[in-house]
Amino acid sequence: MKPNSAAARDIAYHLHPATNARRHEQIGPMVIERGHGIYVVDDQGQEYIEGLAGLWSVAVGFGEERLARVADAQLRKLPYYHSFAHKSHPAVIDLSERLVGISPERLTKVFFTNSGSEANDTAIKLIWYANNARGRPEKKKIISRHRAYHGITIAAASLTGLPPNHRLFDLPLPGFLHVSCPHHYRGAEPGESQEDFATRLAEELDETIVREGPDTVAAFIGEPLMGAGGVIVPPRTYWEKIQAVLRKHDVWLIADEVINGFGRTGRMFACETYGIDPDVMVLSKQITSSYAPLAAVLISDEIYEAVADGSAEVGTFGHGFTGSGHPVATAVGLENLNIIEERDLVGHAAAMSAPFLDALHGFADRPLVGETRGAGLIGAVELVADKATKAAFAQPGATGQAVAEACHREGLIIRAIGDVIAFCPPLIIEAGEIADMFARFDRALSQVEATQA
Ligand code: PLP
Repeated sequence: MKPNSAAARDIAYHLHPATNARRHEQIGPMVIERGHGIYVVDDQGQEYIEGLAGLWSVAVGFGEERLARVADAQLRKLPYYHSFAHKSHPAVIDLSERLVGISPERLTKVFFTNSGSEANDTAIKLIWYANNARGRPEKKKIISRHRAYHGITIAAASLTGLPPNHRLFDLPLPGFLHVSCPHHYRGAEPGESQEDFATRLAEELDETIVREGPDTVAAFIGEPLMGAGGVIVPPRTYWEKIQAVLRKHDVWLIADEVINGFGRTGRMFACETYGIDPDVMVLSKQITSSYAPLAAVLISDEIYEAVADGSAEVGTFGHGFTGSGHPVATAVGLENLNIIEERDLVGHAAAMSAPFLDALHGFADRPLVGETRGAGLIGAVELVADKATKAAFAQPGATGQAVAEACHREGLIIRAIGDVIAFCPPLIIEAGEIADMFARFDRALSQVEATQA
């Protein structure tokens, strides 16, 4: 590595998110300089298929001129304005109306943040505030799930159910509980059907709420289909059974659609895919195709009315970010939605799902593969040491890492979540590109299989 190279300066000055800092000092960064369509190019000129759409997010692909033009125009016209103290601007109004128009019926108001984590923190604060305003100050606990990923700010990290997001951080905070992950392959008893597994998880939730006291439990949060926890497709009937328990105990449901939203599962929202009727919905990532940081929290009228009453009592709603509803981010979000609708990228994702899932499931027979799973244009291959017993590797994550590195050599970026290899390509991907992506993965997997044989 040359001194003063981008890589050397990255090691010298940059603390990376979600990275082993000591390992980074040794191996340095992959420096990505540009992108087009489903591809990105590094500073050595090597081109890769971006099999995870960045961080599950670049729906319209890289290098979309329309988004660049809109951002440029907004920067020239009104680069910044805020929404505090009754101020507003056209882009935030238009996007609010648009999101309420396309989201599930009961959601009527939008609050904007810069990130999904802030949006989940905001969802929790709205719920606490509303329950105080409604005279239910005890109803505050939030139930999430093991292996959930909901972000990394203090409340969002408490919702997250992954050890690296808790260890050494003194998290989760008290009042945040976790129930079982709905992963049939890992969680079901031998011979237990998907439906029976779902029933058992709903019973666990019911027992948890009863044990804690229904008057103390405010909300349950879940991604309709879990992404960063390892692409966990819910077992059949899971969401209808979970929602029945929540309704019984008057517990609100937060649907975290940060990865799922805007077409990922083949419908505009995964709430439609899985028949979910949320009280709160959290959106980010594909809302702007991540061309600008933006997230949104949509709430029901019931929650809005309580929050509005509370703000009148206090004198203001004491919550908001300098960047809430940023003009450039909301303008980019609107144009991104225009592109998604004009090109019918939701329909496209649904149409591409068959070639995507067929190719993915084609790896099920490989010696290192325990399970293949997915929906729409998101999927995963879970690597195991022993197919028959489902035993994990003695050194967890090492095989996943080896596959990720072999993928890089083949010109493919995917995400290794431990020993789970996740695929989540841009929604614009075409059938030929899907075939190319999995051909590259096939070669990478074969290389690792050869070393283990
Ligand atoms: N919720 C889900 C489901 C996510 O996948 C993520 C990020 O990956 C977040 C929340 C947090 O979003 P951000 O990284 O923008 O804070």
